[in-house]
Amino acid sequence: MEFERREILNKLKGKLFHLVGDVADEMGLECYVIGGYVRDIFLHRSSKDVDIVVVGSGISLAQAIAKRLGKKAHLAVFKNFGTAQIKYFDDEIEFVGARKESYRSDSRKPIVEDGTLSDDQNRRDFTINALALCLNKGRYGELVDPFNGLSDMENLIIRTPLDPDVTFSDDPLRMMRAIRFASQLGFFIDPVTFESIERNAERIKIVSKERIVDELNKIVASPRPSIGFELLELSGLLALIFPELVALKGVETRDGIGHKDNFLHTLKVLDNVAERSDNLWLRWSALLHDIAKPATKRFDFKLGWTFHNHNFIGEKMIPGIFRAMKLPLNEKMKFVQKMVSLHMRPIVLSEEDVTDSAVRRLLFDAGDDIEELMLLCEADITSKNPDKQRRFLQNFRLVRKKLKEIEEKDRIRNFQPPITGEEIMARFGLMPCREVGVLKTAIKDAILDGEIENDYEQANRLLLKKAEEMGLKVVKQ
Ligand code: ATP
Ligand code: MG
Repeated sequence: MEFERREILNKLKGKLFHLVGDVADEMGLECYVIGGYVRDIFLHRSSKDVDIVVVGSGISLAQAIAKRLGKKAHLAVFKNFGTAQIKYFDDEIEFVGARKESYRSDSRKPIVEDGTLSDDQNRRDFTINALALCLNKGRYGELVDPFNGLSDMENLIIRTPLDPDVTFSDDPLRMMRAIRFASQLGFFIDPVTFESIERNAERIKIVSKERIVDELNKIVASPRPSIGFELLELSGLLALIFPELVALKGVETRDGIGHKDNFLHTLKVLDNVAERSDNLWLRWSALLHDIAKPATKRFDFKLGWTFHNHNFIGEKMIPGIFRAMKLPLNEKMKFVQKMVSLHMRPIVLSEEDVTDSAVRRLLFDAGDDIEELMLLCEADITSKNPDKQRRFLQNFRLVRKKLKEIEEKDRIRNFQPPITGEEIMARFGLMPCREVGVLKTAIKDAILDGEIENDYEQANRLLLKKAEEMGLKVVKQ
């Protein structure tokens, strides 16, 4: 405990905390650092944004501090919310007056009144997020912890400060936050709190998609995202916010032949990717790589269970999922689509002879995303059979080696065919038509198959030959 006090004072050295305390003293205002910043001191996590709660007007205190800091400080006041923000070099501090919130069952908007520190702590989501450190002289660094948040922190427990049914019904997003913190911090949700999430899950429907996806992204970005997704599933929330994932669950058996549980498999692949990459969109690709398996599942008397084209159907499902969840419909989504559509390629390749031509085609289709694709494919091997696993990984090493050799030799990765469609049209006096496409593809295929090099002269010779076969005449040299 002694150590923690020293550490607290140490943490309160920078960030203008002394100045905030001094100005508050002069104005006769009680003020505290509160919430995530305080929690993260005890968890030894770095955290950037600081929240200050003032018993009185947060805006007046922020204005006085900004004045003291001079021109280098940027003050933004949000009158409607009763908050203000100061940016000073790298520091960002939010000021808010302590408030009391009461909710009516027929409205999502709380009635907000001025309140005491204790009122303000009562409206916080979890005990570990309700800790406050005083900044006033005489009490500088004193911890105010009415709900034993510190002890919950030591025991890695997430628990609401009040009756969880009240906390979750007031703002159902808090259910997602509970699970997000469990996944992000490796904490456990207290059973009483968890049962309340199960009871109140339906209320998530009144929360906006944007707020939900923010939390979902934090779960995907956490060290072991499967923790979050398993809790979402267990609580009933996943079925409400992401039914396509729940559809992956379960095993069917026919003629004594079963298939793997694709939900558990997907979570394993996601964890595998998370171990090796922080790329949020590669993690989303892992989460969605088999999303079309339920839609493509068939039982074949010879082959057993098949999921033909689940990669291509999956690619097509992604825009709908992204739109519904308010994920970005931009190049991030295109990247996820590309990963999902190509996720079978390296494995198919490694099962056959690894020919130069197949490797060139893979490089051409994956382009600069080839590293991410290989990582996803390696993560996709979740077989528990050690022999199988060794064989796959060995084959992948071979594919990687070939990729490197061919990339160095042929520079296929960002390959542009050496003769453009425009040039073909001009040379043979063509309007845009099927023949132009045929000629372009012939050049591309010849290069990818290694018949000619990625070079203008050789491509030109091939073009002339093919065009002649098709009865086309050169109109312009
Ligand atoms: P992170 O910054 O990693 O998202 P955080 O706990 O700091 O985590 P913020 O959204 O920055 O989360 O919120 C700061 C504090 O405000 C929280 O620690 C908590 O005390 C309070 N808070 C935030 N959202 C809610 C909510 N929906 N209900 C109750 N209290 C909340
Ligand atoms: Mg925060």
